[in-house]
Amino acid sequence: MTKILIAEDNAVNRELLRELLEMRGYTVVEACEGEEALRKIEQTQPDLLLLDIGMPVLDGFGVMRKIRENPRFASLPVVAVTAYAMQGDQEKILNSGFNGYLSKPVNSRALAEELERLLGKRENRDSSSHPSHEGQVSGKTRAVGNGE
Ligand code: MN
Repeated sequence: MTKILIAEDNAVNRELLRELLEMRGYTVVEACEGEEALRKIEQTQPDLLLLDIGMPVLDGFGVMRKIRENPRFASLPVVAVTAYAMQGDQEKILNSGFNGYLSKPVNSRALAEELERLLGKRENRDSSSHPSHEGQVSGKTRAVGNGE
C-alpha cells in the first residue's frame, strides 16, 4: 500500500487531503507542523510527502532543506502544497528541491496527476473504476478555503 504523509497545519485542509487520498486507496499519515513532519518521515517511511509551505515551528522550506540533507530521504518525492500563488513562488519552490507543486485549494484532478506522475499510474487502478466519485470530490474541493 502506498503511504503518503500530509504535513499541513490547517485542520480543514489536512482533512480534505486525507479524504482525497483515502478515496484513491492511499494510506495517509499526518503531521501538523514541520518538526513533526520530520519525525513522521523517520517513523513511518512514507512513499511521498505533501508539504505545506506555511507551517509553525519549521516551515516547508525548512523541512525540505532537512530532508535533502539526509541521504536516506534525499530521493523522497515531495510536493509543495501552498496558497502562495504569487508569481515567482513556483520557481522558488522548484528551485528548493521540491518535485512538484499544488496550489490551494487543492484540486482533486491536479492532485491525482501529481501522484500519478511521481508514483506511477498503477496506484489509481481502483479509483478509476468508480468515476462517479469525481463530481463529489470536485465539489468538496471548491468548498474549502485557502487557510495557511
Ligand atoms: Mn499552513
